[in-house]
Amino acid sequence: MAKRIVGKQITRPSGNPDEGPITFPVAKDLLKVDGIPIRDDEVSFYSREYPLESIAVEQSASTKWASEVRIDFSPETEALYEKFRKDISSDVDWIRSSGELTPDTAPSGDDVTEAIRQKAYELGYGEAGFAKFDRRYLYQSRRAEARPDLPNAICLALEQDFAATQEIPSIEAEKAQGDAYLKQVELSKQLVEFILSLGYSAQVSGPVWHFGPMIPMFVEAGLGQLGVNGQLLSPKFGSRARLQIILTNAKVTHDKPVDYGIYKYCESCQICFMRCPGRALEGQRVWYRGVEKHKLIFKRCRPVMTRYDGCGVCMKVCPIQKYGMKPVMEHYIETGEILGKGSDNLEGYTLGDKGYFPPGKLPHFDRDFFDMPLGRVEDRLIEEFKEKLRNGKNGGGAASEEDWAELRQAMEASVEEGPKMMDMGMDFDA
Ligand code: SF4
Ligand code: SF4
Repeated sequence: MAKRIVGKQITRPSGNPDEGPITFPVAKDLLKVDGIPIRDDEVSFYSREYPLESIAVEQSASTKWASEVRIDFSPETEALYEKFRKDISSDVDWIRSSGELTPDTAPSGDDVTEAIRQKAYELGYGEAGFAKFDRRYLYQSRRAEARPDLPNAICLALEQDFAATQEIPSIEAEKAQGDAYLKQVELSKQLVEFILSLGYSAQVSGPVWHFGPMIPMFVEAGLGQLGVNGQLLSPKFGSRARLQIILTNAKVTHDKPVDYGIYKYCESCQICFMRCPGRALEGQRVWYRGVEKHKLIFKRCRPVMTRYDGCGVCMKVCPIQKYGMKPVMEHYIETGEILGKGSDNLEGYTLGDKGYFPPGKLPHFDRDFFDMPLGRVEDRLIEEFKEKLRNGKNGGGAASEEDWAELRQAMEASVEEGPKMMDMGMDFDA
């Protein structure tokens, strides 16, 4: 006899033109909230008073550090990232100028939601949904670039290769991530062409160069819910979804957030929290900038990502990623348990020099493992300069002409160079 009562059945398009829709049950005790809990006023307040900024800008000091550490630790990974940066740089230029393309014809005035959705599936996107483009999630440095006359967001998810993802952390998985990004650009070029042919404008956000966080709009578009790992859990491929948004003025109907049971499921699961090698995930939710979420501890995550092929254990060990929503939910209803929890198959992973970690075992790192420069390069230069003054040979206070010249030179070089793409294109600024 089933251990849980079915609360509702969800039927969704498979995204594959050769397959019919997919139906799966959600247990009654997992139903809690459509999408994610949000305090709308708080989101507006933070956006207005403390605008978001790209991590490539806010944490630029760690980018140079990460490259240097990686060259010592895993030169193959650094070489892969370097190649990827070269391969995608012209695509980033295209993404940034996509809003300048002009429609081919006058719009018909018809609602084109389903035409765009079907085209997206046909091209190979696994998920396509529609929401308001929420400008509260724009990075401060990119606000001016997002066209204000494009009010709608087409949310598009592409599946990252399944087999390579199960090998996380590995160079193969990083390559799969880069391949997914390159494919996203190719598909979005075709989808933008289609939107222009309908008489509407389009502007692309992502991959690699984004206007801001995308998950809130994907949730609004009913394409998943936020996991403990801070990733969108898509009902189709869990955290294996690579996200991209196209802003448009096309006449579309917005989708609605859905309760897939993920909010409550995560409370029972907690696998990503327990398996994170850097102890960088929080077990409890907090309210942050108007959203209730598990907050990632950047300074504990990035040192692990840097040394272990982008890490990603929190993606790999997610049962929804590994087994899919339908088997996971059916198993929960039958047994009241989390599919795969406690198994090597789901929870085990290998970290290069440290070896294999089965369920229940985590690596230990020396304290200095987490020493990493935080903040912006320029802020760090000033801090280092102040430190130098405090410890100067004259007992502190006076800086020599030479010291000032050195600081000025370092500042100018940093500003001229600008923030760089982080790792496998987590973010990019130029
Ligand atoms: S990427 Fe690795 S270190 Fe960072 S949160 Fe995920 S599991 Fe933890
Ligand atoms: S591993 Fe478990 S807790 Fe973490 S995001 Fe996936 S379902 Fe949620």
